[in-house]
Amino acid sequence: MNYIFDVDGTLTPSRLPIDKGFEAFFLSWMKDKNVYLVTGSDKDKTIEQVGEKIWNNCTRIYQSCGNAVYESGKLIRQIEFKLDPQLERLLDEFLLWSAWDDRYQTNIEERIGLINFSVVGRECPQHVRDKYYKWDLTAQERETFCQVIEKKFPEIEATVGGQISIDIYPKGKNKSQVLEEIKTPITFFGDKCEPGGNDYPIVEKMFYLIDDYDICCVKGWEETYEILKTKK
Ligand SMILES: [Mg+2]
Repeated sequence: MNYIFDVDGTLTPSRLPIDKGFEAFFLSWMKDKNVYLVTGSDKDKTIEQVGEKIWNNCTRIYQSCGNAVYESGKLIRQIEFKLDPQLERLLDEFLLWSAWDDRYQTNIEERIGLINFSVVGRECPQHVRDKYYKWDLTAQERETFCQVIEKKFPEIEATVGGQISIDIYPKGKNKSQVLEEIKTPITFFGDKCEPGGNDYPIVEKMFYLIDDYDICCVKGWEETYEILKTKK
């Protein structure tokens, strides 16, 4: 069995480090298994969240939704994706349109193969993050931004990720690309599996293209922990 895990909201609380008890459990659980991580974050942020031990012990790690790939701590490939001036203009317009007032720095972050956009700004404190997340469940502005981006730029794909941001990347260069090289049977764990969520492309592809799979859509790391206890 091959196990693929999203990180944020699946193995850790959103943007926060992994629970110490769960880390110890996971390290011994993963020993005799093929474990893959697939996340929108970059290497440094992922190590900050799951710790070096887990990061180094995974079979392969897909950072930036699979646009930067690491094996045994080494980068094995990556794709280029630069912020185009027209797209940047659109993101600046979103910043003007948004009804959300409480703003912080780093609204646009260029990662390898992916651009992360957030109206609140990545430097915001956790309580503002939670507040925005709740507000956006009704306002649905991230969902709207994604739809506008995809309409204006047919060669680009955008999905809602984490609590406050959206991930933007070349069409098809989403999390589902990892299925091209991970063999079945596969069990996938993710927390944003609904349409528009950044785990949805992988879940959708599993439904249609793979026979032997199991999808675990979790509400948080606690649920992942409970399920893994049953998968010795
Ligand atoms: Mg997640």
